[in-house]
Amino acid sequence: MKEIIAISNNDLARAHEIIDNCDSVLIGAGTGLSAAAGFLTNDFGTFKRLFPGYTRRYGLKTVAEAISFYFPSAEEHYAFLARYISAFRYSTPPKDVYTNFLEMVKNKPHFVITTITDGQFANAGFEKQRIYSPHGDLSFFQCSMPCTKKLVQNRKMIDSMLDDLSENPFAIRSSNIPTCPRCGSFLEPNILESVNFNNIPWMQKSTDYIDFLKNSVKGKLVMLELGVGHDGSSIIRLPFEYIAANYQNTVLIRVNLKDYRTEVPFADRQTLAYQMDIKEFCAAIALCV
Ligand SMILES: [Zn+2]
Repeated sequence: MKEIIAISNNDLARAHEIIDNCDSVLIGAGTGLSAAAGFLTNDFGTFKRLFPGYTRRYGLKTVAEAISFYFPSAEEHYAFLARYISAFRYSTPPKDVYTNFLEMVKNKPHFVITTITDGQFANAGFEKQRIYSPHGDLSFFQCSMPCTKKLVQNRKMIDSMLDDLSENPFAIRSSNIPTCPRCGSFLEPNILESVNFNNIPWMQKSTDYIDFLKNSVKGKLVMLELGVGHDGSSIIRLPFEYIAANYQNTVLIRVNLKDYRTEVPFADRQTLAYQMDIKEFCAAIALCV
């Protein structure tokens, strides 16, 4: 297979022209976009700022470590979750990188598929019916069993838990531990990392995504793939490459600092790969729009 060549950072006019002239845009976003927006799960500085005292008390150094850490009590587990969900889902203003992408696509039919669970596309103003996030969304709790496929909005519960932390910064009140109204089990964030992740509500939304694809491949479709690593291969990278290889009017624009090569045969013919920071790409393209 011919090896794809990463395009020079100076050749952004090509991407701009293709986006400008297309009929619809499909955005595929992975954790690289979160990082570009400043949501750093592997950064000690970020962790120290958001979780003061957690390193000394628990020996934790990053958000990623803390997400999979077994806290000594449920009260401490939910204290961490309340801080995490508040910081990553609710209390951060929309980031430029997201609002710039919205500006770029808002006047064309568009859709977002993402493995990110922080809801920043919705926070930036993307319509919820145009977002498909099969790895879940931090704004929902689910039963940890789960005894039901129903999800629960957690904003009020998170705010109430944060209020508890003024008394004890590391633990919520026992009476505030969220439980399933149906079976009494603990509630957990509805994200892939949770034990017994309930993906049924998200699978039901996949029909919106499939409908968008069926319509858009009839015209000039641009797939804008942003920071999708191999953890998003089966959901975003490979399907996008397959579409690029099989539908002549489609173009895959891949922005990725490391993994920019294509794997599906012939996908390289219709792929522009930018080996650069997503924020820089976005800012440069936004200036052209
Ligand atoms: Zn339950």
